[in-house]
Amino acid sequence: MARITIDDVTKRFGDGDDSVVAVDDVSLDIKDGEFVVFVGPSGSGKSTLMRIVAGLETQSEGDIEIGDAVVNQLGPRARDIAMVFQNYALYPNMTVEENMSFGLKMSTDMSDEEIEETVTSAAEMMDIDKLLDNRPGELSGGQQQRVALGRAIVRDPNVFLMDEPLSNLDAKLRAEMRTEINRLQNDLGVTTLYVTHDQTEAMTMGDRLVVLNYGELQQVGTPLECFYRPANQFVAGFLGSPS
Ligand code: ADP
Ligand code: MG
Repeated sequence: MARITIDDVTKRFGDGDDSVVAVDDVSLDIKDGEFVVFVGPSGSGKSTLMRIVAGLETQSEGDIEIGDAVVNQLGPRARDIAMVFQNYALYPNMTVEENMSFGLKMSTDMSDEEIEETVTSAAEMMDIDKLLDNRPGELSGGQQQRVALGRAIVRDPNVFLMDEPLSNLDAKLRAEMRTEINRLQNDLGVTTLYVTHDQTEAMTMGDRLVVLNYGELQQVGTPLECFYRPANQFVAGFLGSPS
């Protein structure tokens, strides 16, 4: 678990006249164990910000702190963050069990027994323990997303980053997985940054909502605050606030 500080972070792609400011001087304090949801139109910098926190992208300016340490110089692995994306990127030729244990085998000194126990308990938590010998192609979209979450849990990360993890699922599965992700996050207490463009997810899942537009932070507050007391016209329009 960890608190996260995003301190005056800017990200520019390219230079000169063609440069794009993907993230524009964003500052945000995220508490240990907090679930923060990021929303905004396509191109508003949500994914870039997540990738910067994860260490997959380097900010042009500003600092990222995780726990009490500035992690600007640390690569993704050292940041101890687990990411879940919309296309779950499971290895098609590996079984579910192998997909979940692969990262542990590569990056920890856990014994085979410890790895098996960890994978089994994560599989039970995600209700995929019957599927450990199957390959991703034999699973439904929802089951695959459960495996992706299971694979994130086994690493016992400090932080979860989820970038539109449910957007490939149908409405019924999305509803089910919303509950599942909230339950998981509650049980594990892992600090979570969650990107979505889904209204229901934005309004129901997080402790706080962060609204972005053109890389700029528009509002940070509880979902209800943002909805009923939007900071500006943009937030009101985007969230569909009553006028
Ligand atoms: P979102 O996830 O909110 O849709 P992104 O973070 O993907 O937004 O993109 C923010 C802006 O940065 C967009 O204008 C996008 O085109 C630009 N951008 C993102 N990644 C790159 C890149 N690797 N090179 C150049 N521009 C990029
Ligand atoms: Mg994105």
